[in-house]
Amino acid sequence: MDNTRRGFLKAAMTMAGAAGNPGYAQAQAGSKGQATPSDPALRVKSLESLLVEKGLVDPKAVDALIDTYEHKIGPRNGARVVARAWVDPSYKQRLLTDADGALKELGYGGLQGEHMVAVENTASVHNLVVCTLCSCYPWPVLGLPPVWYKSAPYRSRSVIDPRGVLREFGLELPADVEVRVWDSTAELRYLVVPERPAGTEALSEDQLSMLVTRDAMVGVAKVSAPAGGGR
Ligand code: FE
Repeated sequence: MDNTRRGFLKAAMTMAGAAGNPGYAQAQAGSKGQATPSDPALRVKSLESLLVEKGLVDPKAVDALIDTYEHKIGPRNGARVVARAWVDPSYKQRLLTDADGALKELGYGGLQGEHMVAVENTASVHNLVVCTLCSCYPWPVLGLPPVWYKSAPYRSRSVIDPRGVLREFGLELPADVEVRVWDSTAELRYLVVPERPAGTEALSEDQLSMLVTRDAMVGVAKVSAPAGGGR
């Protein structure tokens, strides 16, 4: 548990440093270990110490919360939703028109996922999700947001140059594919329903769900067919 939490704080500090000061990493690397953490990183640590010290937060509760969202309520939930949408056209229709209701059918909903919108990738449309303001993300179906999702470069460049960002993720889209960028807010969060890869007709819903990645549901990747033709 402690390791999980330390990892989380470290990630938060790295993110805060990168976001607050682009030269942070270089400065730290060249400073023989004497670099002072950026202000946001210090605030994270100070706040945590203070809340624990005053008895307002139980460190074990924080650990449990983080563990739950990292491992139990992770992207596997979203993958199950996508697989169901692939095999059941009427479910897909409900998902695209009333995401909250469709997610609830599979038992998903709640904190940080109260108002969901599902958007479908097709041969002619590719959807990409970002939160330009901060890091709004659909926790019940995707778990905790990855560090890159919270980074300043991703948040700003996804809007200015989405194709360039996708290229950096290794996804080159044909010029005739329309790219739609969705800006999440605290009120509205998005789930991308990626395209079902060709050659997966023989796979079961469970097997299909294993192909669906977190990145594909944020829209920075496509889902690949398994090697060997989907058996
Ligand atoms: Fe946000």
